[in-house]
Amino acid sequence: MDNLITLVNKLQQACTALGDHGQESALPTLWDSLPSIAVVGGQSSGKSSVLESVVGKDFLPRGSGIVTRRPLVLQLHRIDGKTEYAEFMHLPRKRFTDFAAVRQEIADETDRETGRSKAISPIPIHLSIYSPYVVNLTLVDLPGLTKVAVEGQPDSIVQDIENMVRAFIEKPNCIILAVSPANQDLATSDAIKISKEVDPKGERTFGVLTKIDLMDKGTDAVDILEGRAYRLQQPWVGVVNRSQQDINKNVDMIAARRREREYFANTPEYKHLASRMGSEYLAKMLSKHLEQVIKSRIPGLQSLITKTIGELETELKRLGKPIANDAGGKLYTIMEICRMFDGIYKEHLDGIRPGGEKVYHVFDNQFPMAIKRLQFDKQLSMENVKKLITEADGYQPHLIAPEQGYRRLIESCLISIRGPAEAAVDAVHSILKELVRKAINETHELKQFPTLRVEVSNAAFESLDRMRDESKKNTLKLVDMECSYLTVDFFRKLPQDVEKGGNPSHSIFDRYNDSYLRRIGQTVLSYVNMVCSTLRNSIPKSIVYCQVREAKRSLLDHFFTELGAREMKQLSKLLDEDPAVMERRSNLAKRLELYRSAQAEIDAVAWSK
Ligand code: GDP
Ligand code: MG
Repeated sequence: MDNLITLVNKLQQACTALGDHGQESALPTLWDSLPSIAVVGGQSSGKSSVLESVVGKDFLPRGSGIVTRRPLVLQLHRIDGKTEYAEFMHLPRKRFTDFAAVRQEIADETDRETGRSKAISPIPIHLSIYSPYVVNLTLVDLPGLTKVAVEGQPDSIVQDIENMVRAFIEKPNCIILAVSPANQDLATSDAIKISKEVDPKGERTFGVLTKIDLMDKGTDAVDILEGRAYRLQQPWVGVVNRSQQDINKNVDMIAARRREREYFANTPEYKHLASRMGSEYLAKMLSKHLEQVIKSRIPGLQSLITKTIGELETELKRLGKPIANDAGGKLYTIMEICRMFDGIYKEHLDGIRPGGEKVYHVFDNQFPMAIKRLQFDKQLSMENVKKLITEADGYQPHLIAPEQGYRRLIESCLISIRGPAEAAVDAVHSILKELVRKAINETHELKQFPTLRVEVSNAAFESLDRMRDESKKNTLKLVDMECSYLTVDFFRKLPQDVEKGGNPSHSIFDRYNDSYLRRIGQTVLSYVNMVCSTLRNSIPKSIVYCQVREAKRSLLDHFFTELGAREMKQLSKLLDEDPAVMERRSNLAKRLELYRSAQAEIDAVAWSK
């Protein structure tokens, strides 16, 4: 059973080490779920004295005014042997055997957090005491409740202390040790007032009555101690601590405890209650109660921890990996993210994700339609045919066929295919750009780094621009090639004028008659149509070769080369994550570490039972 309190001690230490003091809304807290005992009461009600006699040592700072300004988590560990020592969590491996030095360190450590301003802080100090004379127990000493701020304290201090105390004791896992002095009316007790607020049924409140020896002659505390004056589910415990005079005279703890025992045994009013009075009894009872509470909470704690680990992991995953510190690590991260983007981009082109089919639509629909729309009416109008043929003939009209005229007519038609060819290149370009935008948005990892996101998309756009220029060059070359060399076979197969019954003795001017020109126009048109159908096939090949294939192959190649030359500082700039996200991630990671170690600890204890 002992190991249950040890378990909670360990978990509490882990909480403080990893920054979990409860009272935070942004992160789940384990601290709040751990059972603990908090000591509350007004100033000078005897809280420190109760704690000291439970421990059996003088070790708490004393003085008038507010001395306890940070919660003190006091963990008592029972050990074999004779040596007693204390350790602070903020001073690992330093053993205090001089308890006066412990008192000094508590005061110093309080000042370290709050300054000498008499301000208060909710960050606890952890003190462990190892002794053969203690029972396993964890107690939290809280600042005493006050009524007015004294010299040097802000006016808000009264409310601040009350809020801090309330924040501690309102957690359902907190056992409240409510300290009230017997020489004051219970109705005025700060401890009872605040514990009643948070635990109205008195289920987790232990009433401790101090200063019984200081009661007015003729009065006694039997009504309170027997639970008639103020009803609590747990029994009241009366104690007699050392008076100020005892302290001044250095009455030691052993003697004080003996005197306390004798006081209850020998005072007629309390004789019948003697077996359940005094600091020693209080310590044992609290230890037993704490164990029971812990035991009953373990299954709940286990499921809470498992659930929280899941939640923390999910959020961490959503936030993405933390950034490496060195240039190599940063470069690796950038490359990794770029590769993810590149992968998604390819998936769009390859049909795993949507969008790539639009490229085919250009080849299958837009481009052929645009060519069809050309119709060549202007170039092949009777007037134009006549004009070009006569011009080409020059001073000497053609003899058999207007060779040069044909060439010029064909060329003037083919040139106009450049328009649709360029338009096809541009159409594919804008589809490829659109897919970059999509892939950027779908690369989850890029959301983490706004600058990298912009640079990657710019780099991709620049690559696409380069590919478009190259593609235009090559595609137009295909058109120009058709202009530069005509398919001879086509013309060889044409029936000659003579064969068709034309009369070669006709005047040369007759040769420019309408039907003759129309025939030339038709021949040119059918040649041009033949070329169009060739280009309808070859231009898409050129576009895919220069743009689509290249985009798949080397979209970020330039960026990578340039990246290699960048300095650490420039790389850091690319990975300029939102600082709030960074902080959140590291907080979550710490909290996850806490919950994981808590899970391991609890499982170990639960299995060993
Ligand atoms: P705290 O402010 O609540 O921590 O109170 P302290 O423990 O410092 O006690 C305040 C004063 O009351 C000290 O001078 C103690 O010696 C004295 N005192 C506390 N408990 C008792 C007690 O049971 N009997 C007597 N006679 N004096 C006590
Ligand atoms: Mg005190």
